[in-house]
Amino acid sequence: MVTSAVVITGAASGIGRACAELFAARGFGVVAVDVDEVGLAALTRAQSRAPRPAVAPADPRTAADAGAVTGADSRPAGGPEPRIVPMVGDVSVEETGAAMAELALASFGRLDVAVLNAGIGTTLPWEAPGAIDRLDRILAVNVRGVAIGIRSVVPALRAGGGGSIVVTASSGGLQSEPGNWAYNASKAAVINMVRAAALDHAAQNIRINAVAPGLTETALTARHRTDPASTAAVSRRIPMGRWGQPGELASAVWFLASAESSYITGTTLVADGGLTAH
Ligand code: NAD
Repeated sequence: MVTSAVVITGAASGIGRACAELFAARGFGVVAVDVDEVGLAALTRAQSRAPRPAVAPADPRTAADAGAVTGADSRPAGGPEPRIVPMVGDVSVEETGAAMAELALASFGRLDVAVLNAGIGTTLPWEAPGAIDRLDRILAVNVRGVAIGIRSVVPALRAGGGGSIVVTASSGGLQSEPGNWAYNASKAAVINMVRAAALDHAAQNIRINAVAPGLTETALTARHRTDPASTAAVSRRIPMGRWGQPGELASAVWFLASAESSYITGTTLVADGGLTAH
């Protein structure tokens, strides 16, 4: 039986998948939620071939475990088998939230961390037909979905004495981009929702933070990388001169989930290669 468990939304692809693989490799039981059934099947297939975790899982709720996280890679082998339990569900639907928390408790007997990462977005001309319906859908997934996620996991976290919620926001929530008004609005909303939610749950030992990725190589941004010239053109906008990798974002999520960040709540950790630094 695992000694720590996490729910991760948007786990079939990109940053969410990298999080699922990282948490599983570090001994967590993972409930992987996504609308993409095929992607979830690919994740669990890959996971069944992955080596068992080389470390004992770290309890993210206690500062005393901070060393277990820091020294994770140097610990001897012997942790439990990794387990990823897939769940097909749409985060904008309230029943999905309740079901994912229940599945964590049924599968692992506990819930310690939630990574509310599922998100959609695309540039949207103001004059495009159906633009307001598209805005509604972006807000439903990126904002409503996070609110549902927080409400759903809090009782299980509280029952275990506390925990950590990490929300995937975006550098686009801090800095606007032409044509991205709907997505930018949704991510700015999420950043402020995280701050307010952190205030509301701090006394229950539940920390709530956000990670704000910059341009990261995932399916979401594939249209910006259709050829080497356009990829390079976008890279030139990034001070570090390259796109982020999903695993680099998963590391930032892990930091906020773990006891390494035990005194941090209500913050947004920007991981964007310097994109929003100027
Ligand atoms: P991705 O498209 O690779 O992965 C997103 C996943 O979310 C997909 O598997 C998708 O099926 C799932 N999903 C979409 N709608 C869903 C819903 N309603 N319910 C459940 N699952 C749903 O994209 P990604 O880049 O890994 O995005 C992850 C998060 O990171 C998103 O919130 C995104 O806004 C944010 N982000 C990404 C970038 C980037 O450059 N890739 C930058 C900033 C923020």
